[in-house]
Amino acid sequence: MQIKCTQCGADVTVQQDETFIECPFCASALFLDKRKVVFHYLIHSNFKPNEAEGNLKRWMSGNHTVKDLDKKAQIVKSEFYYFPVWYFKTKDGSGDKIYLQPAASTSVSEIKKLQIPAGALKFYDKNVHNDHEIVKPDVLYDSAQSWLQGSGVNLDTVSEAALVHIPFYQFHYNFGGQSYTALVEASSGQVYSNIYPAKSEAPFRILFGLSIAAFVITSVICYVLGFVLNDSMEEALLTAEFFKIFAYGLVSVPLIVMAYFIAKKV
Ligand SMILES: [Zn+2]
Repeated sequence: MQIKCTQCGADVTVQQDETFIECPFCASALFLDKRKVVFHYLIHSNFKPNEAEGNLKRWMSGNHTVKDLDKKAQIVKSEFYYFPVWYFKTKDGSGDKIYLQPAASTSVSEIKKLQIPAGALKFYDKNVHNDHEIVKPDVLYDSAQSWLQGSGVNLDTVSEAALVHIPFYQFHYNFGGQSYTALVEASSGQVYSNIYPAKSEAPFRILFGLSIAAFVITSVICYVLGFVLNDSMEEALLTAEFFKIFAYGLVSVPLIVMAYFIAKKV
């Protein structure tokens, strides 16, 4: 079969079932999807396995995850691979925009939000990269294009389309009897995870409800005291306001202490 090189326009002969192609005339890396030919890029990894794990641990010790996840999680397995995404660049009055769509099935939908730095795209070279680390695309160009159209993009504005392989470390870890997965994008070191042991918000909600109840009850008690101790309405209200200043202060002390301990624990 003959295809046309996206870069130099030369006719290139390809074998049946061949999808990763290098143009023999200009050395561009191309990807063939049915009859569509696009550039085939790869982004280089800047992180060693232990550095990627360090990033994961830092993310685990952060604010979104359950307390001490970095110490309690057991990392059971890690893999390195280049994951394929469809890359679309659009050009219109408002400038350039980049859209990404996973080109293979993944449970991590955050991949769409990846930032690809300008200049990071290098031609794929089969002599440099281990074939078993390259995840083969199984989402066709056509379906990626209909997804793009579905998200409101006018296909006439697409100025560039390519297949890009992005380096990832995938970590499998156990926590609290459950297993989880997290990805570390190996060019930026950014951590991506859809499902993880999140910080529980329930104790804070309960505390919030408790605080409201405590202040309402305190106010009622102050008014009752005011009316018990005084005969006139005016004096009663004045006394109640006076009590409230101290009572509110007293009530907030245990609430603040509770909030502090909850924050330390979850
Ligand atoms: Zn060429």
